[in-house]
Amino acid sequence: MTDNNNGVLVVVEMVESQPIDLGLEMLALARRLTDSMGGTVTAVAFGTGLETTGEILTAYGADQVLINDNAIFANFHAEAWLPDLSKIVAEVAPAIVLIGHSLSGTDLAPRLAFRLDVDVATGCESIDIINGRPHMTRSCFGGLAREVVTFTKTPAVATIRSKTQQALTPMMERAGEVKHVTSILDVNSIRSRVVNREREKAVGVKLESAKIVIGGGLGLGGPEGFNTLNEIAELVDGAVGASRAACDLDWCPRSYQIGLTGRTVAPELYLAVGISGASHHMAGCGNSKTIVSINSDPDAAIFKSSRFGIVGNSQEIMPALVEEIRKLKA
Ligand SMILES: Cc1cc2nc3c(=O)[nH]c(=O)nc-3n(C[C@H](O)[C@H](O)[C@H](O)COP(=O)(O)OP(=O)(O)OC[C@H]3O[C@@H](n4cnc5c(N)ncnc54)[C@H](O)[C@@H]3O)c2cc1C
Repeated sequence: MTDNNNGVLVVVEMVESQPIDLGLEMLALARRLTDSMGGTVTAVAFGTGLETTGEILTAYGADQVLINDNAIFANFHAEAWLPDLSKIVAEVAPAIVLIGHSLSGTDLAPRLAFRLDVDVATGCESIDIINGRPHMTRSCFGGLAREVVTFTKTPAVATIRSKTQQALTPMMERAGEVKHVTSILDVNSIRSRVVNREREKAVGVKLESAKIVIGGGLGLGGPEGFNTLNEIAELVDGAVGASRAACDLDWCPRSYQIGLTGRTVAPELYLAVGISGASHHMAGCGNSKTIVSINSDPDAAIFKSSRFGIVGNSQEIMPALVEEIRKLKA
């Protein structure tokens, strides 16, 4: 596959029949890219109960929506998705394929690229068209530097980090074409079976959508430190995140992890409590509007990225902060 030039194909992940925010953010990026290089924006959705998906994805910028509505796609399974997705890519012939940098997307993208015998760039933050070719920007060296990569083969497959793009304002009157895909999947070809799925209980605001995120690290001193963070999150309608070190010690669920190998957040306010500010962590929260940190070490790296910093013991500061917020709210 060497001469694909039909715009951008976006794989939009669906959860409970609704597109995830990252899918909508990638549609905005796809629109910007096709404005500069031409071609169409094709959105692809796999799942069940996708009756309104075509309309929604068109409103958010797709010219064409391909729906693969089938019970077998209700939950992500890379092996099940690949035959249909590879066929769709071959037929649409996009110059770029965008996939979310989520747990599913980082599983799917390299497999797709391998099948198509093309290259993949994971964890991209932006894409620009230079001399007609996509140039993908992403963090490297554990978040200490940025690199720009480009490929000679097409399509270029890229996974995009959440909150690096802003979704378009939906225009319900936008016209687009919606087609239903006939699956070519042979279920007997799937070599792995999912024997059990456990959904983690979602409490409060979703980490990526929260305007205020309170991140906890080893400086909290133990898992009980997260109780205070949860209390604050509840008071300010925020969400709790964590450093990898805190997750590794099981002080909080793994899903809290922010950073290079965790989730990416870009809230209005990121309150970092007892987090040293390693580049791996900052790769996931460095785009926050305002960072405020609490750390007992005045030389902690996190202070370099912080607008405000408090040097002190989090175990003394956090209860006082809770009390102050309660007073303000009253
Ligand atoms: C390939 C790779 C990927 C990684 N990916 C990630 C990632 O996605 N996310 C991530 O977070 N990390 C990641 N890491 C790990 C990262 O390098 C750091 O080790 C980790 O972020 C440190 O977590 P921390 O800040 O909680 O702990 P520490 O670095 O130990 O920092 C604890 C901080 O708490 C402060 N402190 C101690 N006591 C108190 C107190 N009583 N009150 C206030 N402050 C106190 C200390 O001064 C210190 O600054 C990755 C590492 C590698 C090698």
